[in-house]
Amino acid sequence: MNDFDGTFLVRGATGYEEARLGAVWNERKPDRHPDAILLAATDRDVQEGVRWAAARDTRVSVRSGGHSWIGTGVRDGGLLIDLSALDEVVIDAPNRRATVRPAVQGTRFNALLAAEGLVFPSGHCPSVGVGGFLIGGGYGWNSRALGPACFSVEAVDAVLADGTLVHATDDTHPDLMWAVRGSGPGLFAVVTRFHLRVYPAYEQILRSAYVFPYEMRDEVLAWSHETVPDISDSLEMSAKVAFTPGLDRPTTMITAAAFCTPDEGPAMLEPLEKAPFLRHALRTAERLPSSLDDLYALSDALTPKGRRYAVDGVWTDAPVERVLDAGRGVLDGLPNRDSFLLWMLWGGQPTRENACWSTQARLYFSPNALWHDRADDLRNETWAHDSLRALAPLAHGTQFADANPADRPDRGLEAEQAARLELLRHRYDPQGLFRTYLSPKESTTALALRRRIKEIA
Ligand SMILES: Cc1cc2nc3c(=O)[nH]c(=O)nc-3n(C[C@H](O)[C@H](O)[C@H](O)COP(=O)(O)OP(=O)(O)OC[C@H]3O[C@@H](n4cnc5c(N)ncnc54)[C@H](O)[C@@H]3O)c2cc1C
Repeated sequence: MNDFDGTFLVRGATGYEEARLGAVWNERKPDRHPDAILLAATDRDVQEGVRWAAARDTRVSVRSGGHSWIGTGVRDGGLLIDLSALDEVVIDAPNRRATVRPAVQGTRFNALLAAEGLVFPSGHCPSVGVGGFLIGGGYGWNSRALGPACFSVEAVDAVLADGTLVHATDDTHPDLMWAVRGSGPGLFAVVTRFHLRVYPAYEQILRSAYVFPYEMRDEVLAWSHETVPDISDSLEMSAKVAFTPGLDRPTTMITAAAFCTPDEGPAMLEPLEKAPFLRHALRTAERLPSSLDDLYALSDALTPKGRRYAVDGVWTDAPVERVLDAGRGVLDGLPNRDSFLLWMLWGGQPTRENACWSTQARLYFSPNALWHDRADDLRNETWAHDSLRALAPLAHGTQFADANPADRPDRGLEAEQAARLELLRHRYDPQGLFRTYLSPKESTTALALRRRIKEIA
């Protein structure tokens, strides 16, 4: 009999299928079946789960918030350790520190921090779990100023491949900490607690949004791309090519959120207000006093739960004309009214010695397909993944946040960091207990099915 504080479900047991499907937020669920799922209730469960798998020479995958678009925690065979019950938050306000468990969602974390006058750059969508978000880099609200969220991880508690639970810091486990900060779904440990640096709450958030006719797309996108080096790091600006509710056609929009003091806000938004094409805006909202809750609500409306999603993206430093040219298939091909192209104006950040996080560029170009009907899978997946291939010559890798290496292989780390990660994996996990990045043969998408049919034919 297994000795777990939580629930251990073998394939076929009552509750197994519910747990398997529930491990993936995306309504497009992978057709993969772990041999068993452990709904962990304690750190000891995680340790026992790892030992259980090691004793049977089988493999371990992990789920925290379940927001991997491709359900990378749900694999065929092996044990899925589901951490979704581990969601405590402890805040040390005087020292601006917080300890969070992996399934904590950004909104809840920030609500607790707000009561202490603090904030953290959690993911844009309210329900993203901190586990995969932090390990994957973490592009949160105001990350251009505060850095990718993984830079705020000061220490972790983690279960290693031999089942030991360690408290890791840059002094005690520098290699593990380096890997935690950016290896995405390729980490060779299970993190049960993140010890984070948190920040003083913003005095003000001001938001502006402009919607332009679709025909102005190239002009608007090019302007935003040229402008990003000149704007404040505390101004988060992005553009989208999307349908706008109430307008019966695709549009190009620019949104910006300034995280600021009342004195700074207007000056931060000014470059946008001086854009040469502003008079052509179909809709304008300027300098709206906002809250993080408002921002979460806007993001939630853009990517609601209950849809099928295919998301991907590439970083690029290429001249904007070349991006617009190579990206034409994506930009012209929105598969439906809900899908959108995110033009994320990142600008670039200094990398760090103690973090493997490394692929980035001035611009992140990211198709987000969302739809209802399984019959539309292939069309939407083709748009999200295949049409990005035209940007490959200009690309500088992808974000683990959105990567789908099974259907469009791309690098989420620079070559040097990727090589060091594999060396460390060999040292920390010589038997290969922990799963790593999803491979093409594991994909169960319509795209993968088409690929296999073509191979046979
Ligand atoms: C609607 C939506 C909005 C999003 N918005 C953003 C955004 O604004 N910014 C951004 O950066 N990303 C965003 N993402 C992507 C998201 O951050 C990643 O998918 C991230 O992996 C989700 O973390 P999770 O814990 O919820 O996911 P999970 O599916 O639970 O985890 C994904 C993988 O991460 C690894 N992992 C997770 N937890 C642990 C752990 N405790 N120990 C070891 N490995 C672990 C495992 O390999 C796991 O399979 C968004 C995703 C969605 C669905």
